[in-house]
Amino acid sequence: MSESAVNITRSPEETIELGRRLAERLRAPMLVVLRGDLGAGKTTLVKGIAEGFHAAKSEDVTSPTFTLIHEYRGPKVHLYHVDLYRIDTQKELDTLALDDLMDAKNILLIEWGEKFERFRRERDVEIVIERAGENERRIVVGDLSL
Ligand code: ADP
Ligand code: MG
Repeated sequence: MSESAVNITRSPEETIELGRRLAERLRAPMLVVLRGDLGAGKTTLVKGIAEGFHAAKSEDVTSPTFTLIHEYRGPKVHLYHVDLYRIDTQKELDTLALDDLMDAKNILLIEWGEKFERFRRERDVEIVIERAGENERRIVVGDLSL
């Protein structure tokens, strides 16, 4: 049986708070795909997840659009925040060596991961964020009852 949770947030702060709470339900190793258009709030949600794991302060979590991978190390787990927006080919993907990050201690949070069949297949959970208004977001968290 699968159970998805629908959440509505009305500000970036509420999305960060949702991320903090979500962190309590994530475990390493895990591969999380974050889906949603540009500006949906994927990076904002990761700010909260990083805080929840005491891995980074929200203001220190920034978009890895150009840097591609950011690492946030918490006491228990290491978060790898990846953005594949600018990655289009398998060859480019290979240069990121994401396989090396699939480790018992790690959680991978991948924006635009659905672009690659592999991550659609291997993901443990998908989080979909939709813009519902200027500051309103609909955030659907896939089944986490592992
Ligand atoms: P993405 O990573 O999906 O491209 P970002 O998290 O970088 O998106 O940006 C989301 C933008 O939307 C930010 O400018 C943020 O301030 C704004 N925003 C407005 N309302 C919300 C909300 N409820 N949740 C998340 N972000 C919001
Ligand atoms: Mg982003």
